[in-house]
Amino acid sequence: MSQSSHGGLCPSEWVPSAGARSMRRGTPAVPRIRAWAAVIGAWTCAAGQPLAALDSPDRVRYDGEMVVRVTIRDSRDLFLVNQVSPDCWSHSPGPADGMGWGTLDYRVGAAGLEAIRASGMAHEILIPDLQAVIDAEAMRLSGGVAGRGWFEDYKTAEQVRAFLEQLAAARPEIARLETVGHSLENREIYALRLSGPLSPGVGLRPIVLINSVQHAREWITVMATSYLAEQLVTLYGTDARTTGILDRYEVVIIPVVNPDGYAFTWTTNRFWRKNRRPNAGGTFGVDNNRNWGFAWGLSNGSSGNGSSETYRGTAAFSEPENAAMRDWTLANPGVVMHLDVHSYGQYILYPWGYSALPTPGVGALQRLAVGMRDAILDSGGVPYLAGPCYQTLYPISGGSLDWYYGARSVLSWTPELRGPGFNPPPEAILPTAREWHEAVMWLAENFCAADVDRSGFLDTDDYDRFVTAFEEGDPAADYDRSGFVDTDDFDAFARAFMEGC
Ligand SMILES: [Zn+2]
Repeated sequence: MSQSSHGGLCPSEWVPSAGARSMRRGTPAVPRIRAWAAVIGAWTCAAGQPLAALDSPDRVRYDGEMVVRVTIRDSRDLFLVNQVSPDCWSHSPGPADGMGWGTLDYRVGAAGLEAIRASGMAHEILIPDLQAVIDAEAMRLSGGVAGRGWFEDYKTAEQVRAFLEQLAAARPEIARLETVGHSLENREIYALRLSGPLSPGVGLRPIVLINSVQHAREWITVMATSYLAEQLVTLYGTDARTTGILDRYEVVIIPVVNPDGYAFTWTTNRFWRKNRRPNAGGTFGVDNNRNWGFAWGLSNGSSGNGSSETYRGTAAFSEPENAAMRDWTLANPGVVMHLDVHSYGQYILYPWGYSALPTPGVGALQRLAVGMRDAILDSGGVPYLAGPCYQTLYPISGGSLDWYYGARSVLSWTPELRGPGFNPPPEAILPTAREWHEAVMWLAENFCAADVDRSGFLDTDDYDRFVTAFEEGDPAADYDRSGFVDTDDFDAFARAFMEGC
């Protein structure tokens, strides 16, 4: 299909190809995948649409601004850079306990740079002209990427939804799109649910939940989770690893959990981070990743000031996006693992965000984080630093990783993908997406549900704990996620325990 035959149709208006429609009737696996390839092929022309408002006078400009990486020596340096910069791109600054002050990235103008120079702080200019970066990106996206693959440039939430719709239409036996909830401005938060067909008598599968772009400007995260969706859908039935994972788990991918903020970065302000809540005093936005209801409200790791990039909101779960994710999670108690994907900095963070104390179960969190890091390196990816959020990066209170782990006992990690900055060139999309596909594959294959106490290894403590829960009929002993505790759970646990997972 050519660009001209497609005209200016939005992707959501695009009609599935005959191949995609026929797949709903259940054709054999190989023709299905061929037809799916036709779907993707058709997409490359849909991506050439002109994007609204790229030249709008309402767009926020960053003329004369740059991003500088500074080496902070002490609290005086930190005070100074926070005086001269409105926006720390390393999110909220340290200190990271016991790790020194380290380097932080700040958006500054010429006067800010001069002040940093005068202070004697070591610094380097990471991105010399932010407006030029925005202009080049906007020009590229409005010019279209006809004839190129879907992953060769960034996509709007509508484009991503249409892409997932096509994936679900291509393989309805394993993929289903559903609505999680709606944002403050009533945009849909959608999810793609992926799992192999259930055999009769098999209960629900444990769920691996993956979401991206809580912070609106972190565009590359949307592409990484969309790529994961595409790989799992495409490879199920032909690739043994993928088939094994989707026959063992349900993988749920929610690419855009902050749709209002994300839309705003496309239309108005490329570096918007929060949602679009109008706050008291005329400021906008709550940081969704400070609004979760676990350790919410601490001033170390969030802000009570509406103008802050880390504003936590007026109450835990005050924001509809957070409430929607919470309610979906409560309605899906099978979630055992969670990734909240961010950028940038090349980290794999795990709880706690709010405290320097080690989590109970830190052994499993650490073992699996290090395993993902190594899987990325082994696949030819870049180095990531794995560690607890508070010490490795900075304190976060009201973050999703702490809520999933602390309130739901779900193993939760926050990857920070590649940068630098929030506009990695489009050539960075596929390498970043591929290394995270590898990481998630490794994670799913190496999670051990029988490590009941989350120590990172199997021992008699796990056995004792499971047996106690089983004898008490505790839902924690519903090992096979059938919704009730019975001898199948005992058998499944015992088998995993004997086999060492
Ligand atoms: Zn983020």
